[in-house]
Amino acid sequence: MKFYLSLLLLFASTHGEAQSCQLKSQEALGREVLDELTRNPINCDNQSIHLTFDDGPNPQVTPVLLKELKARNVKATFFVSTTNLEASHRSHETNLALVNETMNAGHLIASHGHEHNAYDLRMDGKGEVLEKGFTDQQKEQQITRSVQLLNYATQNRFSNQKPLLFRFPYGRGAMPSAAELKRMDQQGTMRFQSRDYAGQLAEYRRQSAPLQILAGNGFSHLGWNNDSGDSSHGMGMPSRDVLKSYVVKNLKSMCSGNSMQVALFHDIKIMNTAAIPVILDIGKCLGLNFVSPKEMMSNSQSLVDRGVLIQKSKTLRAPADTLGELIATVTQAGTATPECPPEKDQTCYSEQYKRRYQECEGGASICLGGRWYSRQDPMILLNCNLKD
Ligand SMILES: [Zn+2]
Repeated sequence: MKFYLSLLLLFASTHGEAQSCQLKSQEALGREVLDELTRNPINCDNQSIHLTFDDGPNPQVTPVLLKELKARNVKATFFVSTTNLEASHRSHETNLALVNETMNAGHLIASHGHEHNAYDLRMDGKGEVLEKGFTDQQKEQQITRSVQLLNYATQNRFSNQKPLLFRFPYGRGAMPSAAELKRMDQQGTMRFQSRDYAGQLAEYRRQSAPLQILAGNGFSHLGWNNDSGDSSHGMGMPSRDVLKSYVVKNLKSMCSGNSMQVALFHDIKIMNTAAIPVILDIGKCLGLNFVSPKEMMSNSQSLVDRGVLIQKSKTLRAPADTLGELIATVTQAGTATPECPPEKDQTCYSEQYKRRYQECEGGASICLGGRWYSRQDPMILLNCNLKD
């Protein structure tokens, strides 16, 4: 185990008195940020922030973040993109282990969907509806496949977590703007009775197939109200100047809210391996309170009021016990593919051989529950006792 060299630095707080700040790592960057904040002080008293990391895991970034968070006893939420866990992904074994390690460290594992497709985007920048290319069944698979892989990675502990959180790719789909809602109404994609935004948003959520599927499976949707801005940076490590202004910008915005904030970061961006330790150390000594998923949920009213957290109970159109029941209500007739009939038939059809295969039969591809998987797929390894 490595012990951090602690660096205790004095700087002037907004109250005028000298304040000490312990830098556990990234000392050089930390000193530059402290210099900047001594010149332009900020006040973080009574500010609470919950850190979230999207799109990972990533073998270069996630382990560093886990180590730095552990050293400061901060718990975060990791919204995993589960294509990173597919057998075909070059780092899938490392990534599966990282998900497990993240959960064992006390962080919340959450789903960011499977392919990071814009499968629930309603509009692009020009206001065009993008979702028409995706069937309800395809959208549902983005959720169920993600849940399968997260349960596989965590030995089925994923689905037993509280809370169960999901974040749509790009955060879209849960919080359309007033203009987007208006356009949906005009184009007839959805019809709204309410005239005000809040009412239309509630109606939208009751008509959104993916939101209904999520809520029916116990998921609440968590967006964010503090964007770190790391998406606008490249994958590599930026210059020291860029890093410094990135850290200062984030500390300023984290300290400028007046209640709970949820911060969006990405654990695929190498810059966060340097920035997060400094944000944690300096944020803490400025009075910023880094809250765990549990603390966030027990004090979530302001997040609910601002639509950052969409609770499952507030989303669901009608009580439904099973995924199947919900899918039956939201899947329109005629969208099912011949490979996966909606009835009880759990066989798979092969177009090549013009025949149906039973569970765990097949060649290079194996049939399970009415779908084809590769021989190396976690679902096959878990459920099928294949002879080589
Ligand atoms: Zn993302």
